[in-house]
Parts: sequence; structure tokens; C-alpha cells
Amino acid sequence: MAEKINNYENTNRLFDKAADLIELDEETRLLLKTPFREIQVEVPIRTDAEELDVFVGYRVQHSAARGPMKGGLRYHPEVDFDEVRSLASLMTWKTALVNVPFGGAKGGITCDPRQLSENELERLTRKFIERIGFAFGLHLDIPAPDVNTNAKVMAWIMDQYAIQNGYTTGIVTGKPLELGGSPGREAATGRGVSLITQAAASDFQIPIAGARIAIQGFGNVGSFAGLLLQRAGAKIIAVSDHTGGIQNEAGLDAEALFEHVRQHRGVAGFPGDQITNEELLTMECDVLIPAALGGVITRENAADVKAKMVVEAANSPITTIADEILGERGIHVVPDILANAGGVTASYFEWVQNIQVFTWDEDKVNDEIEKYMLPAYQTVRNIMRDRQVNMRTAAFSIAISRVAEAERIRGGL
Ligand code: NAD
Repeated sequence: MAEKINNYENTNRLFDKAADLIELDEETRLLLKTPFREIQVEVPIRTDAEELDVFVGYRVQHSAARGPMKGGLRYHPEVDFDEVRSLASLMTWKTALVNVPFGGAKGGITCDPRQLSENELERLTRKFIERIGFAFGLHLDIPAPDVNTNAKVMAWIMDQYAIQNGYTTGIVTGKPLELGGSPGREAATGRGVSLITQAAASDFQIPIAGARIAIQGFGNVGSFAGLLLQRAGAKIIAVSDHTGGIQNEAGLDAEALFEHVRQHRGVAGFPGDQITNEELLTMECDVLIPAALGGVITRENAADVKAKMVVEAANSPITTIADEILGERGIHVVPDILANAGGVTASYFEWVQNIQVFTWDEDKVNDEIEKYMLPAYQTVRNIMRDRQVNMRTAAFSIAISRVAEAERIRGGL
């Protein structure tokens, strides 16, 4: 029987493991697990053919204990409350783990953007903001890009928000540079994946020079992670995405693949042997980086994963049962809330620059990303070693302690 995935329940199971480790009381568990606010809106638009189409949009604001809520917007057919709720909760733990002064939120619209024209996508985005914008604010909730949303979509959001509320650059991050976007933001999540992969590889005795890496997804996160890991000396031996997959044991040229994907909107057609997404996940390699969607490593294929280490560049790519199987098999897993936190870290810098009305240069942004990511990694590794737990439980326990402490000091109950 196929594994039924209940995203929010899965995330809360991970939460409980870490809460057990820090002996968190029941009341605080209840408080931290319950989302602060959930919003659903109808998003009707006129299609290019002048027909009415009605979509549904969501925003789950999980926690504002440590600061304004922060999280991406996803446009995908599988977006629903369960997925958004789980991703919002992960944002709370992620921002706490890297110690940026934000809470967690997530949102999205259930749609297939590949079936929509650019004009339809813009109308959809603007109508969504018209109806849900009241919940956003510079010191309240700040959206960002996620799957199938990008700087262009963020610009529409900023403009639509400005029509209703006045010019507020910092209302959204991941914007184009011309509108107050931050240098280095586009590559930041992949940069963080690359930094954390190198740190973990060194701790798990996997030399990064010549390390054989397979990446699922070559969008924003996967492509920059691949490029930067190749520059660090690793070999990208396989890449797959929604258009197919390619493999080359001698190493794919990540720079050329990057250009190819920009031109052709997918890896299909790039020179190399063909490989399916399923084959990539279970191929012989040193490091496997799922950087596409959630729930790709499951009870069905976890026993076949041959990587020495899996780095979760995507959010929740491993189900809880699969996570246990990988653990039992001695495969190291670097959890999403650590591995992909470079994006929200750079988003924090973008927000700070917008508030300061002052732009940093890219080197400063990249240096600051390291200053937040590497200490976060070291704290996780220390807890992992001291308490003899896996990296995920260590990471969650640090994040939960910080949010619990913020709630406790704020009081009000
Ligand atoms: P993106 O839209 O730029 O890229 C998504 C990639 O996944 C593409 O290569 C696409 O082809 C591939 N893909 C989609 N459906 C697929 C399928 N069925 N099989 C195989 N590949 C498929 O998105 P992104 O921003 O790179 O996000 C990727 C993941 O990283 C998501 O889980 C997202 O939540 C997470 N993430 C993104 C950021 C960010 O800053 N963009 C930050 C943290 C986490």
C-alpha cells in the first residue's frame, strides 16, 4: 500500500521527538504546535479567453513569537491546508535555528502555473494579494518566493500591496534588484545548501573534492547548490527535474547545465545518459540532494537509497517512516530546516536593507550568510554528538527551545 502522507502530522512527529529530548511540558507543546492564524481566500480571475476561473489561496501564520512571520508562497496543484500548515511550521523552526528575528508562515495557491499565461499569472497574484494582503505587513508577515514563484511574482505582490497600502519595499523579499531586492538573494538558498553540505561531508568523512553528487530538481535551489558544490570541487554526476534526468559518471558541467535549463526550462536535452527521477534517488552516489518537491523518499524507496548522506534542500523530501529507515541504515540526513535556511537568512538581510533604505554589496551578503549558517551547523552538530541523536532531532530541539523561551518571556497567557 502506498504511504499516505499527512504533512502536518509528520512535522509534528518530528517536533515531538525533539520536544521529548528537551523534556518540554505538554502545555508548551500544545501552544507551539497550534498555528497562530489560518486564512483561505477565493481567487477568481478572468482567463485570457474571458472565462471565469476560481482558484483557492492559503496563508498559514504559524508563529510570531520571535518576530514578524516569514515564509514563501507556492503555486502548485498539490497546495492545500495540510501542506501549507506543515511548511509554515517548518519556517518557525528554521528561522529560530539560524537565529534570525522572524516567526514562521507559508502560503500558496492551488494551481498549475504551467497551464497559465503570464497575464493570467499576474491577475491571479494580484487578486490573491487584494484579498489576503490585509494579513501581510512589514512587521507582521512577509512573503517570499517558493516553488513556481520568483522575483517577477514578488514584484507584482509589492506593487499590488502598494496600491492598497502605500509603497512598502520590505513587504516581500526575493524581489528584483531594481525594486529593493538584495544582491545574493537569488543564489542564497543554494549557497546555504552548498555550505552545509561541505561542513557535514567533512564531519562524516566524505571528502568534498571529487564527491559524487546527485541532485533532484535544478530550479532555483538545486541549480545554485550544484554550481557552488562543483566550484568547491565536487562532481555532479546526475540531475533530474520535471522534464527528465541525465547522468554522467565523469561529471556533468553544472555551468553549462545552468545555461541549458535557463534556455530550455528543464534538463531534458542536455548531453548525458538518460535517468528517471526514481533511478536518481536510488543511484550509487556520495551525496543525494533532493531539491524539488516534498515526499519523494518514502517507505517504498528508502531501503534502496545508496547515498552516504542525504541533504534536504527541498522542504520535507523524506517522509517520517523513510527517515527512520535511512537512520537505521546509517545514512546521514541533513535536515531541511538547516540545509535550506540560507534563503530565509538572505531574506532577513533584504528586509533589513529595505528598512535601512541602504543596499549592501553581494560579498557582504554572502559573508553574512556564512556567519549565520555555519554557527547554526556547529550548534546542531554539538547537540547531535552530546545527546547522541540524529541531526534533525538536534536541529528541532535548538529551534523549539528558542521559540518556547520567547513565548515564556512574552507571557500574556
Ligand atoms: P523552483 O520552482 O525554482 O524549482 C523546482 C524544481 O523542481 C525544478 O527543477 C522542477 O523541474 C523540479 N520539479 C518539479 N516537479 C518535479 C517532479 N515531479 N519531479 C522532479 N522534479 C520536479 O523551486 P525552488 O525555489 O528551487 O524550490 C525547490 C525546493 O526548495 C522546494 O521544496 C522549496 O520549498 C525549497 N526551498 C526553496 C527556497 C527558495 O529560496 N527558493 C528556500 C528554502 C526551501
